[in-house]
Amino acid sequence: MLAVVLKDAMTVRVEEVEDPRIEKPTDAIIRITSSGICGSDLHMYEGRTLMPVDPVLGHENMGIVQEVGSAVVSVRKGDRVVLPFNIGCGTCFNCTRRGTHSCLMANPHGPHAAYGYAAMGPYKGGQAEYLRVPWADFNCLKLPGQPGDDLEDDFLLLSDVFPTAYHATELARVQPGSTVAVFGAGPVGLLAAYCSLIRGAAEVYVVDSVPERLAKVREMGAVPVDFTRGDPVEQIRQLRRSNPFITGAMRPGEEQMMGVMCGIDAVGYQARDIRYADTHGGPERAAQVLEQLIELINPTGHLGSVGVYIAPDPGARDESTRQGLYTLPFAKAWDKGLTISGGQTPVKRYNVFLRDLIIARRARPGFIVSHHLPLSAAPDAYRKFDARKEGYTKVILLPQT
Ligand code: NAD
Ligand code: ZN
Ligand code: ZN
Repeated sequence: MLAVVLKDAMTVRVEEVEDPRIEKPTDAIIRITSSGICGSDLHMYEGRTLMPVDPVLGHENMGIVQEVGSAVVSVRKGDRVVLPFNIGCGTCFNCTRRGTHSCLMANPHGPHAAYGYAAMGPYKGGQAEYLRVPWADFNCLKLPGQPGDDLEDDFLLLSDVFPTAYHATELARVQPGSTVAVFGAGPVGLLAAYCSLIRGAAEVYVVDSVPERLAKVREMGAVPVDFTRGDPVEQIRQLRRSNPFITGAMRPGEEQMMGVMCGIDAVGYQARDIRYADTHGGPERAAQVLEQLIELINPTGHLGSVGVYIAPDPGARDESTRQGLYTLPFAKAWDKGLTISGGQTPVKRYNVFLRDLIIARRARPGFIVSHHLPLSAAPDAYRKFDARKEGYTKVILLPQT
């Protein structure tokens, strides 16, 4: 079958690879209809992580069940399913505590298991015609409808970025009336803003510099903040300060509380990418977004970080990243009494009710998708998505075209 293979930093190729087959009675083989390219692929693509050997990429996968192993009982040939990017066994210590991102059985050698990441277990990705799904009963989420119908993009995003965005709003404790700042308007940041609005936030600010992404922020009814126009923390304070309806509700002395209560990091560390050296101040500023959020969030507020901080990474260019050490102004966070949390998303915790919101058409996350392309276009799509050029906000590969 054809698959997208990472050959070297900044180089992917579409190649013929071996077809997957049922290896265990609990496996299923899925014929992929859609597979997303994700900001998480860029950590490998840009060479920020150790280079695995020729992995088939793709952890955001959906399709049609082609074949099931003899022990699979809840899905059958022909079912339409979406797969969480993390692979869980369903029965280990962590899976039974809602921590399917830390399954002990799926990757005994590391903290996580996912498709298309050599560091996260021996699982090939789904930017290919077919995919092997382990523990199919646990990992397949059944979907209504037909391949290519009007909900295909919305459903595909259940594999990662929609639950991840929702997870960010959980960590940041967004609730009705919340004030929210999201750093990053990539697929995750855009949907974190969208989920904040679903949860009833009063004000949502989203920081980035890419015009097409900031335009999507405005379209959904959130407030775009372009960090190339000055310190984003000060810009958000100024936007709030200049709104008489916000200041008009404040008592004397409260005007200094012009930050937000909920902050979301949807950027992650970018330090090895020399193209960001100017805006990030070089590798020693790897956690600059976290510093800015700690500055911006009001006392007793909450910071949720879903941007990836890879650690430890012996292949990283700077020492702190090699060791997985990032510097935070913790005393400031402590003084303010902030909660800080982060991590990989346990997709299974969220994907059922988010699917049901899509079915009821009360959530349509697919608005972030900018391109649908055949597998053969993957090399060019990776280049453009990575460069954040030409409106490449979210690319979906369609292996059956
Ligand atoms: P992306 O690379 O498309 O988005 C990142 C965005 O951040 C870009 O639009 C970029 O312009 C912007 N940005 C860069 N520096 C910035 C700064 N200093 N301030 C504000 N914005 C800045 O990727 P994505 O798909 O949206 O993913 C975002 C992050 O989330 C990545 O680190 C990805 O690995 C991570 N992620 C985590 C999980 C999880 O389980 N926690 C799941 C999916 C993705
Ligand atoms: Zn992803
Ligand atoms: Zn498990």
